[in-house]
Amino acid sequence: MNALDYFLKYVKIETTSDENSLTCPSSVKELNLASEIVADTKDLGYESELDENGYVYLHLKANTKNFQAFGLCCHMDTSPDASGKNVKPQIIPSWDGRDLKLNPIITLNTTNYPALKAVIGDDLVITDGSTLLGADDKAGIAQVMGLLVYLKDHPEVEHGDVYICFTPDEEIGRGVDKLNYAKFPVKYAYTIDGGAVGSIEYENFNAASAKVTFIGKSIHPGSAKNKLVNASEVAFEFHSLLDKFQKPENTSGYEGFNHLTNMSGQVEKAKLSYIIRNHDRHLFQKQKDSFQKISKYLNDKYGYKVVNLVLTDSYYNMWDLIKEDFQVVGKAVKAIESTHIGAWAEAIRGGTDGSRLTYEGILTPNLGTGGYNFHSRAEVLSINQLHKGVEILVALLKQYLN
Ligand SMILES: [Zn+2]
Repeated sequence: MNALDYFLKYVKIETTSDENSLTCPSSVKELNLASEIVADTKDLGYESELDENGYVYLHLKANTKNFQAFGLCCHMDTSPDASGKNVKPQIIPSWDGRDLKLNPIITLNTTNYPALKAVIGDDLVITDGSTLLGADDKAGIAQVMGLLVYLKDHPEVEHGDVYICFTPDEEIGRGVDKLNYAKFPVKYAYTIDGGAVGSIEYENFNAASAKVTFIGKSIHPGSAKNKLVNASEVAFEFHSLLDKFQKPENTSGYEGFNHLTNMSGQVEKAKLSYIIRNHDRHLFQKQKDSFQKISKYLNDKYGYKVVNLVLTDSYYNMWDLIKEDFQVVGKAVKAIESTHIGAWAEAIRGGTDGSRLTYEGILTPNLGTGGYNFHSRAEVLSINQLHKGVEILVALLKQYLN
């Protein structure tokens, strides 16, 4: 079997994670894929282990001395944003750019999806229009399987220790919650997850959430003059004092935002929820400070604690640590370029498991897999890029030999 065979097999196993579940993995269905991976790696002669939380670990043992160990990490779940049940992958040989009509509302072409210009001429895997494909991140898993096949067929290839981990629940932000670090004992790792092959992502947002509660003073509206404090009105006032241009719909690239994600309110009590994002740690702090300043201003104005603000940091930009030890990126660039394609960097306007791992002491940029239009029925995988990704992983082994 090759990477494509594994990919086509794994996308048919439903692994949608469930953010409303408190268990790990969030859906027992994820264990079906985990068991399949364990069986498949065993068939190839490797020993992998499925733990009680649904993580699969594989230690690819060194066959040489003088190396640095590194890790590879992919997630087994798919996004709850689109159905992952009964996925029927369709293969389109050497796509010439013609319209691929998936359903009445989705037609794949380069007008609707300009990024697909990069895969004209490639063999593609697409959906039948009723589900997502699951290239995010089963393409990553398939590439790691491709690496294992290659090493089985080429025992002469020298490599050091490689620690591989397949995680559940990345799509609901819990991918490394229960990671057993003793089974992933590395300083450097890569998530193989998303984006075009050749891309390296090592910058992501700093992220926090703000929960703002407003406590009003209710009184009959007929006798309210100079007495009523309407919590919902104060919530409007709070929101109006935030930077109007610092919103997701007004920002791109390295511009940060405050995003109102939920609101509710009556006269006595109102609530606003925000997420706060910025790549720059200093500007991130300034955004959080603005929430504090506005709260203080309103509390002073009304003369009591009308605003209760709870700010919670979620994750930080991995760049602040990776820039101190850039070789983890340098080695990936060399590996990519040795396969005769260009490497390029992209700043993620979101977070990754890699940012969490980086702050746990494992510098973890992300490498692209050849997938496009994630979390949707329009998801596409370039088969050419899938195979290229395997080549890059093979090339990466050499970079970790001294
Ligand atoms: Zn992913």
